[in-house]
Amino acid sequence: MPAAKRSDRVPFVDLSRLVSEVSEAVQIEWRECLTSCEFLGGPRVSSFERALEADLGVPHAVACASGTGALIVGLQLLGVGPGTKVALPNLTFWATYEAVVQVGATPILVDIDPDDLQMSFDEFLRAHDQWRFEAAILVHLFGWSSARLADFRRVCRERSIQLLEDGAQAYGVAIDGEPVLKGATVGTMSFSPAKVIGGAMDGGAITVTTPEAEARARALCNHGRAGHYSHAYAGWSSRMGGVQASYLLHVRAMLDEILESRRSAARFYREHVAELRGLRAYGPPRGVEDNGYLLPITSDRLDGPALFEALTESGIGCARTYPAPIDAQPPARHANRFGSLEHSRRFCERVVNPPLFYGIRQDECERALEALGGVTPLREFAKVKKG
Ligand SMILES: *Cc1c(COP(=O)(O)O)cnc(C)c1O
Repeated sequence: MPAAKRSDRVPFVDLSRLVSEVSEAVQIEWRECLTSCEFLGGPRVSSFERALEADLGVPHAVACASGTGALIVGLQLLGVGPGTKVALPNLTFWATYEAVVQVGATPILVDIDPDDLQMSFDEFLRAHDQWRFEAAILVHLFGWSSARLADFRRVCRERSIQLLEDGAQAYGVAIDGEPVLKGATVGTMSFSPAKVIGGAMDGGAITVTTPEAEARARALCNHGRAGHYSHAYAGWSSRMGGVQASYLLHVRAMLDEILESRRSAARFYREHVAELRGLRAYGPPRGVEDNGYLLPITSDRLDGPALFEALTESGIGCARTYPAPIDAQPPARHANRFGSLEHSRRFCERVVNPPLFYGIRQDECERALEALGGVTPLREFAKVKKG
């Protein structure tokens, strides 16, 4: 097959399709932010927090400067610090691990369920029998969540495990018809530009259930502030301002369209990839509605890098989320773990993600699918590569 012309390429992500929809309205607001010097906090940040509470079904949301900042503050709210053992899945974005290390706690890596790709509930229980960790981070990964969410929450209550829920990839995800972070003791969100509700810069939020926790989260994000130059905690500077909040409010006003666009593309891939021999597309378990954030595909005949290369050669932008599990990253090589972690490792060796973003066109999905179909008789391809 001739190499695709550059103009023919289907991008993995094209943020400009969303930006162009909000750009005009945002420019007006950004000028107003300049005029009123609305740089940190302010009415737009408050409005965005109220919008978050409505969308996420949570009593209190506190905006901050990043999803990682939210994780760090969330861990502190739960009393996690030096000496605390914290279980987390071996398959997640690195920030989940990073946050545990940055508060001085000790990570314990747990394997995933090979079908839903979330932390395995059974492994989690066995890991707790062995390690007796005091805290855990459940990550709602890839745009859905474990069907065992209620079981995770129940067991954590019963065994006094402080549970933080990393919802960075889960804006718009619902379980049994309810937003996934509703019912989380402490939840976190990221508004990094490529997330489902993506900002114009880094951004995040912490969700909590009581006014006391909200006040503490706000203080921790703002140098532990108790009053004018009086500090109740050693906290952080992790705050949002009007420029980011106004952009996010306009993006969030498009939530229904964003979810519809992403979900229908994800649905298209899932339906049709299932018809291709040797390929598997992953999605939410029964009872969970995804947000179309990512579409992981594996092949039983080609590894991830070879699939990635084949798709790229046919002009299809793609990604490998994630090419390596946490325990394969150098700083985590000697991290505590439970069991062999084989499912997370095997998934990472094989995964590839096709283009998926707000505004992706049907013909682009079809071309990505066609390219996937083209690499399905993979034996030939594998031979050529090796020879
Ligand atoms: C993006 C992401 C984060 C980190 O968010 P930032 O805003 O980039 O700091 C944390 N956890 C998960 C699962 C993520 O996908």
